[in-house]
Amino acid sequence: MSAPILPGAVLGVLGGGQLGRMFALAARRLGYRVTVFAPEDDTPAGQIADEEVRAPYDDLGAVERFAASVEVVTFEFENVPADTAAAAARHAPVRPAGALLHTTQDRLREKRALRGLGLPVADFAPLERPADLDAARREVPGAGVLKTASWGYDGKGQRRVEGPDALAAAWDELGRARAVLEAFVPFEREVSVVGARGLDGSVALYEPFENAHANHVLDVTSWPARVPPRTRDAALAVARAVLEGLDVVGVLCVELFVLPDGELLVNELAPRPHNSGHLTIDACATSQFEQQVRAVCGLPLGAVEPLTPGAAMANLLGDLWEAAEPDWPAALALPGVRLHLYGKAEPRPGRKMGHLTVTGAGAEEAAGRARAARAALRG
Ligand code: AMP
Repeated sequence: MSAPILPGAVLGVLGGGQLGRMFALAARRLGYRVTVFAPEDDTPAGQIADEEVRAPYDDLGAVERFAASVEVVTFEFENVPADTAAAAARHAPVRPAGALLHTTQDRLREKRALRGLGLPVADFAPLERPADLDAARREVPGAGVLKTASWGYDGKGQRRVEGPDALAAAWDELGRARAVLEAFVPFEREVSVVGARGLDGSVALYEPFENAHANHVLDVTSWPARVPPRTRDAALAVARAVLEGLDVVGVLCVELFVLPDGELLVNELAPRPHNSGHLTIDACATSQFEQQVRAVCGLPLGAVEPLTPGAAMANLLGDLWEAAEPDWPAALALPGVRLHLYGKAEPRPGRKMGHLTVTGAGAEEAAGRARAARAALRG
C-alpha cells in the first residue's frame, strides 16, 4: 500500500461548490494545503482554498498541470468528464477512481452495477432507442418515474409516468435522451447512509439519515433515521457492500427508499460527501469531509459515533432571500443553532446557499428546532 499523504501536502479538488468548500475547511484544519480546479472563479471552495485554478474541465492541459501540482486529486463535482479524471490520473492518484465516476454518472450503469452486487433496486427498464418502448412498458407496467440516464439530480430530468400509455409522451418531454424507466416506489420514508472506505479497505459508516424533500430537493435531514433495528442494519450492510463491491477509496452516499414493511430499495449513489451528511460536522467526532480527507490521503478513518442523541439539518435555499436578507441574528439567538453559509453571492431560487444544524435530545426534536430556526430567518 502506498505511504499516507501527510499534513502539509497539497490536496487537489475538482469542482468549486459547497462540498469542496467544506472539504477544504476540513483539510486546512488538518494542516493540508488545498488547490481547487473549477470553471468559475470566486467559488465557494476556491474562497477557502490556498489556490484556485480557473479552467474548463475539458482543458486537459490545465487539468494535467493542476494534477502535477498536488499529491492527490479528489472531486466534489461528480459529473467531471471521464477524460478529465483520466488526465488527472496521469499525474496523481484520483480518489475515488474515475471508474466509480463513470458508473455513477449514468443511472443505467449504476443500476446494473447495484444489481450485479445483488442489491435491491426498483424494477427498471432502459430507454435508449424507440424499439425499447415496448419492452419498457412490459417491464414496468404500472406507474413509473422516467429519468434521464445522465445529468439528472434534485428531480431534474425526471417525469412521473402514470402508466404505459403515457410513456412515449414523457420520453418526448425529455427530448428522447437516454433514460431509465423506474417503477414508482410507494416508500414510507427516504434514508441515506454515508460511509467511507480507506486505502487499507477499512470501512466506517454513519448511522442512517432520514431525509424529507420539498420540490425534489432535500429540505430537512433528521438523525438518526426512525427505522427499526433490522432496517438500520440492512441499510448499513448495503452501504458496506457498495463501498467494497465498487472498490471505493473515499466517501460515498447511498440513498435508499424504506418500504412500509421495512424492506429497502437503493435509489441512487453519490460518490462523495452528501447533503444529508452535513450534520456530521456538528454531530460527530469526525465529519464526512474530514473522513474524505483521511480516506483520500490514506490515513486511518475517524470515529463516526454520534456526539449527541439527535441532530437535524435544514437547507437554506435562495428563495429565503426573496423578500429581504435573512434575519441571521434571529436564528442565531436560538440555542444550539449552527449556521453554515457557502459564500455564494447570488441567491437564486432553488440554489443551495447554506444550511442550519441543530443538535438535541432526539431526531424529531432537533428537526423541529431546525425548522423553527429557518422560519425565524424570514423575520
Ligand atoms: P433522484 O434524483 O433519483 O434522487 O430522485 C429525486 C426524488 O424523487 C427522490 O428523492 C424521491 O423522493 C423521488 N423519486 C425518485 N425515484 C422515485 C421512484 N422510483 N418512486 C418514487 N419516488 C421517486
